[in-house]
Amino acid sequence: MITINENYLKLQDSYLFSTIAKKVEEFTKNNPDKKVIKLGIGDVTMPIAPAVIEAIHKAADEMMKKETFRGYGPEQGYDFLREKIVEHDYKKRGIQIEKDEIFVSDGAKCDTGNIGEIFGKDNKVAITDPVYPVYLDTNVMAGRTGEYDEKTDTYDGVIYMPATAQNNFVPELPNTKVDMIYLCLPNNPTGTVLTKQELTKWVKYAKENKAIILFDSAYEAFIQEDNVPHSIYEIEGAKEVAIEFRSFSKTAGFTGVRCAYTVVPKELRGYTKNGEEVSLNKLWNRRQCTKFNGVPYITQRAAEAVYSEEGQKQIKENINYYMENARIILEGLKEAGYEVFGGKNAPYIWLKVPNGYTSWGFFDYLLEKANVVGTPGVGFGPSGEGYFRLTAFGSRENTKEAIKRIKEI
Ligand code: PLP
Repeated sequence: MITINENYLKLQDSYLFSTIAKKVEEFTKNNPDKKVIKLGIGDVTMPIAPAVIEAIHKAADEMMKKETFRGYGPEQGYDFLREKIVEHDYKKRGIQIEKDEIFVSDGAKCDTGNIGEIFGKDNKVAITDPVYPVYLDTNVMAGRTGEYDEKTDTYDGVIYMPATAQNNFVPELPNTKVDMIYLCLPNNPTGTVLTKQELTKWVKYAKENKAIILFDSAYEAFIQEDNVPHSIYEIEGAKEVAIEFRSFSKTAGFTGVRCAYTVVPKELRGYTKNGEEVSLNKLWNRRQCTKFNGVPYITQRAAEAVYSEEGQKQIKENINYYMENARIILEGLKEAGYEVFGGKNAPYIWLKVPNGYTSWGFFDYLLEKANVVGTPGVGFGPSGEGYFRLTAFGSRENTKEAIKRIKEI
């Protein structure tokens, strides 16, 4: 008899985006004359930069000739891309990362989800709340949590670190000993960032507790302020306690192309039950070589082109475009009397729903009255209740129109 991984049965169905889609479909059916503006899902809308497209064409042509055709590539990624990453994303910021500490992949979603495989089942997990749901669900699947409690919307055994207006969305360090700490900065959904001083506390905690920080900086390219670290390795000693995840998805419009990378420094150590030290870089390398056959050559050439002079210029134009949308949303909502957060170093605006509304109640209200779609905050964790996320990834025209409508209701 084939048995199943019963941890999957603990998972709550992810109703968030499917429920949103159903509600929008129903509304559109009943109101065919209304133009609905979607600022809900965190997907980009600007096309890929011309420098990147040129690289894709060139790489595709190489595949046509016997001399330049490529089959399987290195599981960890081609040197030409890893070298660019080292040089541009780290060396330029004064950070020493070596090529063999970079693992190119097809997405930060897979990497943040899969990384748990190299860690023991008994590790205590801490997540900020609200946050990108992949961290929690993959730990449920791995059996690192207890059962789900409907009353509190939490899983037993997980340490939730609330980030709300009360603490200015800066979560406090866990007051118990934890082993795996997920940090998403700039944060999805709140748009929060931490200063160097604030992040230093987390590195210190991880060192003192022999814990690991899983640092997801998928939105690093959106940081505008100077005192905000782009990489956790800007913090002294972080190479001993942190794995960093980066993605070309939002940085360069690769949500459909698929390319990302994970940094696993060679200093990083995990421990056996007997306390023997083991290199995490070696474990992750072993895992990737066994289960992953690398990112397509064409895609890696596309990612390489992101770092060219033209590529950088073009992707920055897109990022500026989105950040101007963020400013329009932030300012517009403030003028409309909303309490708003984020939007300064991230493409997400997090707003407090008016008194008397739940996250979902406000979703219905906004859809009905302004025909604007956002994401209910509670979908990102229990501390997201009472909040709502709008994204800056829409077109300028739609963004302006959405804000105009929200002001008018
Ligand atoms: N990490 C965070 C925080 C995200 O918000 C997202 C996507 O929305 C991802 C990772 C996924 O990135 P990728 O497209 O590289 O899988």
